[in-house]
Parts: sequence; C-alpha cells; structure tokens
Amino acid sequence: MLKGEGMTKQKYDTSLVDELIEGEWPSFIADLKQLGERKPQVEQLLGQMNQSYKDLWNYWQGTVLNVDGYGGGVIARYSELSDEYPDIAQFHTIRIIPPSGWVYSTETLRELCDIWDKHGAGIIQLHGMTGDILLLGTDNKSTYEAAEDLMEHGWDLGGSGGALRTLSCCVGEARCEMACFDTIDLTTHLTNTFISQLHRPEFPYKYKFKLSGCANDCSCSMQRSDMPIIGTWRGPMQIDQEEVAKFVQENGSDYVVENVITRCPTDCIQLKDNQIIVDDDNCVRCMHCINVMHKALKPGKDRGATILLGGKRTLKIGDTMSSVLVPFIKLETEADYKKLTDLVERIWDFWGENGMDHERVGEFINRIGLAAFLEGIGLEPDPQMIKHPTTSPYIKFEELSAPKIDGEPVHDPAIRNEEVESVESV
Ligand code: SF4
Ligand code: SF4
Repeated sequence: MLKGEGMTKQKYDTSLVDELIEGEWPSFIADLKQLGERKPQVEQLLGQMNQSYKDLWNYWQGTVLNVDGYGGGVIARYSELSDEYPDIAQFHTIRIIPPSGWVYSTETLRELCDIWDKHGAGIIQLHGMTGDILLLGTDNKSTYEAAEDLMEHGWDLGGSGGALRTLSCCVGEARCEMACFDTIDLTTHLTNTFISQLHRPEFPYKYKFKLSGCANDCSCSMQRSDMPIIGTWRGPMQIDQEEVAKFVQENGSDYVVENVITRCPTDCIQLKDNQIIVDDDNCVRCMHCINVMHKALKPGKDRGATILLGGKRTLKIGDTMSSVLVPFIKLETEADYKKLTDLVERIWDFWGENGMDHERVGEFINRIGLAAFLEGIGLEPDPQMIKHPTTSPYIKFEELSAPKIDGEPVHDPAIRNEEVESVESV
C-alpha cells in the first residue's frame, strides 16, 4: 500500500504518531494503520503509542512468561493502560530462531505470516537485535497456541534472559566469494549443539555468537556479540596479476594508488609495473584491497577464522568491542568444530562458576584480568591477544634499575634515557 492510502478514521487519538507518516520514507505507522483496520489490538497499540509520545512515558511493563519446557523465548509485555486499551492488556513478543544466514523461501515466509495472522497481531519484525524473527502482539493464551503451531511447522523458540541467544551469521559461502568458512553450516551446528543452553537460561547473563565469513564483518559481530567468529586466512593472499593489469588499465594507476595502496592500514601492499606485491607477513587481513580489486585479489587458500571474545553494549563497564582469543582456527571438519565447542564449554564453565549476576563475559574478563581468565579456561597466552593497537608512540625498552649517584637512585628521565641509550648502543 502507498503511504497513507486506504486509511479509515481511528477511534483513538493518533495525532502525534501520524506525523511519522510524513517525509520521504515508507512509514511503519502507515502499515500499522492499515493492519489496524482488521486487528483492533493494532489500532489500540497506535493509541497507546500516541499517549506515550504525549506523556513521555513508556506504558509497557515487562515480565516473564514461559512456554512449557522452555525458560525463555517469550518477551512478555503488559499495558499499564489496559482500561483504555483492553485489547493490548497483554501484548507479548515471541522470538523464533530464523534459518541460518536468513535464507527464506517465499513459502516459508507465507507460512509464518499465516500463523501469526491466526494467533497474534500480525506484526512480524525481520530481524530483531539478536537476529531472531520477532512475532509481536499476542496474549497469554494465544502465546501457547502459537508456540505449538509454530513448532508443528518446524520452527523453534529463540533465546532470552541469561541464556545463549539465537545465533546469527552473514550469508557466507552460500553467496559470497569473500567467505573463509561456511558460516551457515557452523551456525546451524552451534545452534543444534547448544540448543539446551539456548532454551534454558543457566548463565550469569546473555551470551551471543555472531559469525562473519571475513573481516568485512557483515553480521556486525565485533560490536554486537560476546563471541564473534570472523573468517580469515593464513599465508599468502591470492593474486591474479592478469586481472591486476586489467584493473590498472581500466581505472588508472593513480586510482589504484589512491584507493588501494595508500589505504592499506599496515602499508604492506605495492603497485610495481602494473603488478600488485603484498608483504603477507605484515598484512592484517583487513579485506580493504580485496574489496576494491575483488577480481584480482582473493583471500589465501589456507582459510579459517579468528575467535574473539568480550563485545557487548553498555552495562557495568560501558560499550566494549571483542578482542582476539584464538588468532586462527580451521573450521572444516567435525574435529575442528569439536575444538571450538570444547573451548566454548570451558569458557561457560569458568564464567558460570565465577561470574557475577548480570555480568557479561567481557566484563568478567575485565574484572579478573585476562591472565586469570586464560588460566581458568586452559588457554595459552598469545601475543596476538591484543585489546586494541598500541596508542603510545614510544618504544618500550626493558625496565632497568635506576642509575645511582652517590648511592641514591636517580629518577630523572633524562638521565635514565642516557643510560638506556648507552645500553642500546652496546
Ligand atoms: Fe561476505 Fe565477508 Fe560479508 Fe560474510 S562478512 S557476507 S563473507 S563480505
Ligand atoms: Fe593491506 Fe588489508 Fe590488503 Fe592486507 S588485506 S594488504 S592489510 S589492505
């Protein structure tokens, strides 16, 4: 439907939310109004939303509602204005695990729409922050009926609370030439292996996996998950020099220098005589040059992934991005997958035993220190476990004992630097 088309007069004041229909872009208010013509709860939802905008107050109260056998998956919402809006007195959301990589057939989407039209308000969000399919607007009784109907059709509830959350991944090898491992297969494997931890909260707080096939990180795993798994490669990048020459001919060498060579973060790529030369030891696999010259350059052949840990939104210590835990792991065989799931279990055991209530794993590491954490999970420290690149422009030397004058230590940095230089020159 076009913006605002076919709307009928509403019983409830929607003057403020109506303003969101104006403007260039399609508006969810226009869609909800259309839906409200046959779903009274949606009409009342708009009325309460308008009231919230007017009073600057959120009239939803949250609580827990569980389907038998599950400890999560339903986000229960009760309206504080149920006298005025009785049809949204209960307006719960059901989280559903989507197909890995979000690959749907139209048949599947129609099935979901039909189920939700039957049991709920008909509002579907693809996809929520965690990656779930969100089915919005149902009451207590219909929640159970909808869950049964969904399960009969092969769908399953997603995670919520102190549990493993629904996994998400980029489309990976299914459609993308950059992928360094099969993101869809591993996401399905991890979901099936840890389905119990997903359905029954047993952790100090939530735990999210997101998988990206390469450092372009299309699943935003670095910012949005506790454990990002990001594809990378070892050894040399693949270079097709014929394609390099074609690219230079079509775009000019200045373009290549300006858009590829000078933008390499480690200055490890050169263009010489229309050929690309990469110093692979210093390449940090950032993907930039490959993104620009994707026919000429490709990730290397020895592919796998880097496992990171600790990303999350604001809680006890503010927003954090994940940092490297395992610099490289192969992800091709059952045995490779087993190594990964064993590591995950060791992390959960140690964090579960020692983490505080509502403490994400990144906050836990921040509290006890990385050294204690690595010892706890039985992982050797590695120089690549860095939180972020160094911000200090100074070279760090070994600590020397302070030089002494008349037997007294001298803390004057100028004198100490002289001492250091003399030691270095020896
Ligand atoms: Fe492709 Fe990489 Fe994006 Fe995945 S993260 S879709 S592999 S570019
Ligand atoms: Fe440089 Fe990144 Fe290309 Fe490596 S992948 S050569 S670090 S631009």
